[in-house]
Amino acid sequence: MYIRVSEIPGGGLDVFAARGRSAIPRMLEGMDPAPLSTCRLTDAELVLTAESGDLWAEGLYTAEGEAPCDRCSEPVAVRFAKAFRSLLVPKAREPAGTSQAELREEDLDVGYYDGRGLEVNDIFWEQVALELPLKVICSEECRGICPSCGANRNREPCSCSAGTSQGPFDVLKNLKGKKE
Ligand SMILES: [Zn+2]
Ligand SMILES: [Zn+2]
Repeated sequence: MYIRVSEIPGGGLDVFAARGRSAIPRMLEGMDPAPLSTCRLTDAELVLTAESGDLWAEGLYTAEGEAPCDRCSEPVAVRFAKAFRSLLVPKAREPAGTSQAELREEDLDVGYYDGRGLEVNDIFWEQVALELPLKVICSEECRGICPSCGANRNREPCSCSAGTSQGPFDVLKNLKGKKE
């Protein structure tokens, strides 16, 4: 969804009120949401305001997706939401823009655009990418998959883990024992 700066009225543009909300669920299409396997927006708001060439993008979103558990590989549903406020300055003004941006709040998100318009999908891609977890686990108690027999230890207690632990050092000990 491309918005030209010339389309933004003085009071700002409520993007989804003006263009409809039907594009929201498809806004992240084409994005690689790793480590999630799927991710889509369930809700989004965005208001664009133009101020002497700079653009303010103020919005929020809720997203949902799915990821394989880092320990047991079972699918895990993931939900997250974020509100954001970004300042986009024209690329051509980058040197001046940077010093100007440095004077503003430190935690303010500052980016660049070509001065003509912007792709709304990119704004949400960027904001979603910032919130993607490094890894997903189904629960803190997840016992994962047994490295020896491949059993999901949340569902079945495998016999390998009962009694003697089969770590790499045990295997070495056994090998040594056989040689001697
Ligand atoms: Zn798990
Ligand atoms: Zn096992």
